[in-house]
Amino acid sequence: MSIYLKLFFFLVFISRSITTIAQDLVPEIKTITMGDDTVQLYIYVSPGANIAYAHIHENETASLEAGITSIKNYGGKLVTLVHSFDGSKNRNVTFMYNTTQYQFDPNRIYTDNDSVLYNNIKVVKGTNLVDTEVFKIVKNLANQIWNEVASAPTIVALHNNKNTPAEYTNFLFWKKVEPESYSIVSYIMRSDHASDSNHSCSDIYINASINNSEFFIVTEKRDFDLLASKRSSVVLQNATPVDDGSMSVFAAFKNKRYLNAEAKHGRVAEQTQMLKLINE
Ligand SMILES: [Zn+2]
Repeated sequence: MSIYLKLFFFLVFISRSITTIAQDLVPEIKTITMGDDTVQLYIYVSPGANIAYAHIHENETASLEAGITSIKNYGGKLVTLVHSFDGSKNRNVTFMYNTTQYQFDPNRIYTDNDSVLYNNIKVVKGTNLVDTEVFKIVKNLANQIWNEVASAPTIVALHNNKNTPAEYTNFLFWKKVEPESYSIVSYIMRSDHASDSNHSCSDIYINASINNSEFFIVTEKRDFDLLASKRSSVVLQNATPVDDGSMSVFAAFKNKRYLNAEAKHGRVAEQTQMLKLINE
């Protein structure tokens, strides 16, 4: 092959790669006003699987990376909530309205029970209360996120957890005891005390060789059976879960096929592998 022919193929290869990356990575951006502030939904679409990935905790970057890789490899839609514009990444959304600062966890806003939503909005600074206007602002965001993902027959939520042990020694060698952080163990009833998680769980499969940070929560038995047969740890949410405003419970009430992929912060490779199980 002549040097010119080689160069030609090389240039074709480069331009194709650039086009592919550009096509895959350019999101549609929707800006949503929340009082004096705005948040954004970045919506990535790639042809292929009819799955919508919901990434709503901005600081859980490993799951976003795994989700982007997944839609590049298998296709799908990915919606990610962006609300920090100073370079930081935060779990909770904060906004100002009428001289008061409010905050909420964007995975505690999907509910038809208004009192659950009211209770999940906190006043951080200022003297005003959570009134109907504040409620409407948050409800609008919930509707917009839900409508984006609910248009697909399958929703896959992407999350990362810390999964620190309940007792650990910090850098000053003080023993620190924290409320036990979230893992698949949260779904097991212990000492006869059922947690909200346990109340919402009807079946569980644990692969003892996998870290307890990496698991799925699913709303349908067929997904439970499928993932368990692939030896992935999985929790089947029951038909009457506790309404905490989380998307998994809302999806169950709306009879949506929903799978939540949980992995520890930073475990991109493990979570990418988990998403592969859904697509293959
Ligand atoms: Zn999360």
